[in-house]
Amino acid sequence: MKVDILTIFPDFFRGPLDYGIVRRARETGLVEISIHDLRAFTKDKHRTVDDRPFGGGEGMVLKPEPIFECLESFGNVASRELRLSPGAKQSVILLSAQGRRLDQSLAAELSALDRIVLICGRYEGVDERISENLADREVSIGDYVLSGGELGAAVIVDTVTRLIPGAVGNQASTRQESFTESFTGQAELAGDGPSSTCVSGGLLDYPHYTRPADFRGMAVPEVLMNGNHDQIRSWRRKTALAKTLRNRPDLLERVALTAEDKELLAQIMRAQINGKS
Ligand code: SAM
Repeated sequence: MKVDILTIFPDFFRGPLDYGIVRRARETGLVEISIHDLRAFTKDKHRTVDDRPFGGGEGMVLKPEPIFECLESFGNVASRELRLSPGAKQSVILLSAQGRRLDQSLAAELSALDRIVLICGRYEGVDERISENLADREVSIGDYVLSGGELGAAVIVDTVTRLIPGAVGNQASTRQESFTESFTGQAELAGDGPSSTCVSGGLLDYPHYTRPADFRGMAVPEVLMNGNHDQIRSWRRKTALAKTLRNRPDLLERVALTAEDKELLAQIMRAQINGKS
């Protein structure tokens, strides 16, 4: 996948994209990331990228010309019409607090593309003609306002990269993580080894433990050490359900719960009523 990031602060990306999975993906050529300095697309001696808003009001707004000209300089980006047509493999994304909220399913959708272009706003935002005529979509990384789109772009690159086949050593691990809805059903739930025992199916991930088995009197749950994969699977599913119920009950309304899930949830709620949890 090719990723282009348009920003007025190119140095911002020294670091966030240089570690772990993203670094390896860059080194092996799975992902090619290019950072473009919007000031290089200005024509005045002050390299002006912003201006006051028409109609008055607070702050400055990023001008349209450097952003249009930067994207046009790539030459090999498909037309907006093609990018918006079904099956398109490229997307131009404007980072914006007003955009569609990034979630795991959007990350999965983006990970199937060949190219994404990420436009980072700053100040009061970006001239609206970018979202109306240049970007294909606006994406927000959450319901809060950041100072700029750079952090959002780094978040998108990270979460999308780890979903590209080959980026994560054990690809199965990305299927059993929180929020992952590519739920392959009962057959997978009934897998016979711990690594396939609990696809998240849109829930939060189950708790993980490693050595030591007893740390300062805090013991790892016995069930994880008894080698009984059926019990481990059931425990993981139950704890994932319990954590989702506690921290993100909204997710439970969206996931397809099996009969076993419903029974486990009923047990969790009964335990809560009885004050055991
Ligand atoms: N005036 C804008 C508003 O109220 O929606 C906020 C502008 S913000 C200070 C500057 C830039 O940060 C935005 O243009 C956008 O690129 C980026 N940004 C801010 N919050 C974001 C979020 N939640 N997700 C993605 N990008 C965000």
